[in-house]
Amino acid sequence: MMSYLDKKNVVIIGGGPTGLGTALMLAKRGWKEIIVIEKRPSADYYEPDKSFNYQIDGRGQKLTDLLNLTDQLADLSVPNTDFYLTLIKSDGTRKVTKLPIVDPERKTAYWLPRASFVKLLSEEIEKKWQDSIRAM
Ligand SMILES: Cc1cc2nc3c(=O)[nH]c(=O)nc-3n(C[C@H](O)[C@H](O)[C@H](O)COP(=O)(O)OP(=O)(O)OC[C@H]3O[C@@H](n4cnc5c(N)ncnc54)[C@H](O)[C@@H]3O)c2cc1C
Repeated sequence: MMSYLDKKNVVIIGGGPTGLGTALMLAKRGWKEIIVIEKRPSADYYEPDKSFNYQIDGRGQKLTDLLNLTDQLADLSVPNTDFYLTLIKSDGTRKVTKLPIVDPERKTAYWLPRASFVKLLSEEIEKKWQDSIRAM
């Protein structure tokens, strides 16, 4: 007898990183009929109160590794290995120093705008998962 769990359908309210990431992980596990309901008109819709950047570190890259998206993430981002401090003196001379804030033992972390990260996940759904995920 089929239980409700065998149907593997779900409705997710909110298509931010958590909602889209959850939908993609469930689809990869074989869930069907995943619906993501988002109130914004488009994935990369600009919201002034959410204009911050995300830092996707080794922990966050567990998701992008699982979805084979880490290379695309790197292309869209600034890596934390590339931060510089520029000191501009009153006479106009500049001194540029590479910031020694990166722990070489840890994976490179990537910084990118929220809209770019949400768009990356959303495009992955459009390209590969339209049969199981419906974003509306
Ligand atoms: C100023 C600021 C700076 C931040 N900086 C960082 C950072 O540098 N790095 C970091 O990792 N995190 C940062 N955060 C935290 C960040 O917001 C979360 O990590 C991330 O956005 C959480 O994603 P989420 O999908 O859970 O929620 P959200 O990003 O909030 O997404 C929720 C989604 O649900 C939608 N929604 C809400 N209600 C409804 C509804 N009723 N119906 C349909 N859709 C709905 C919204 O439109 C939105 O798209 C910051 C937060 C703030 C406020």
